[in-house]
Amino acid sequence: LQKPIEQAHFIQMIEATIERFRRLRSLMSHDSLTQLHNHTSFKQQLALQATLALRQNHPLSLVMMDIDHFKDVNDTYGHPVGDRVLRVLAQLLRGRLRRSDIIGRYGGDEFAVLMPDTDVDGALTAMQEVSRHFSSLTHRSDDERGGHFHVTLSCGIAGYPAYGNESDLTLAADRALYKAKREGRARICLAPTPEEI
Ligand code: GH3
Ligand code: MG
Repeated sequence: LQKPIEQAHFIQMIEATIERFRRLRSLMSHDSLTQLHNHTSFKQQLALQATLALRQNHPLSLVMMDIDHFKDVNDTYGHPVGDRVLRVLAQLLRGRLRRSDIIGRYGGDEFAVLMPDTDVDGALTAMQEVSRHFSSLTHRSDDERGGHFHVTLSCGIAGYPAYGNESDLTLAADRALYKAKREGRARICLAPTPEEI
């Protein structure tokens, strides 16, 4: 900056710098396809929320979800149509969940949701609604011959205080997700409570 500094110009420069910083920060923490938290950012949020849940002794639920047979969607209808399905799911999650819920694209066709102040029964009800709505959507092929299809989700849910830290929560929700896959997909499984293990 050259002196003398004109006040209006100075403010303008600071605002532009802040805006650039915000854009950069958002690019680094969000997935470019869905605009959801990316894996790294979601893990940071999980660490933070797990600490808060422990300190305040509030419930916290972690949902891991994965689209069923998504490879078949890409193979049959093409990658751009697959991308559209991923964006639709992201939009549906944003629209149907609470503003306080933290939604991430965990990787590929796997998504994750953190629900602060929500026990596993509350998370189950919310995800049943999301899952029911998602599977009722009709997705269209880009092909002139037309063609449409439906897609389902599998979910696993684990919660604090049954699982007391971020790694136990992640492992338990992941295991519940794989149970849902094993049992036939298009379903939601809860992680066992410690008494059930
Ligand atoms: P499952 O029911 O067991 O989950 O089967 P699946 O076919 O969904 O599982 P798999 O892990 O074999 O396939 C995930 C697919 O997701 C494979 C990969 O090509 C696709 N994928 C990952 N990232 C993207 C993306 O950004 N866009 C699109 N269109 N596809 C993606
Ligand atoms: Mg999948």
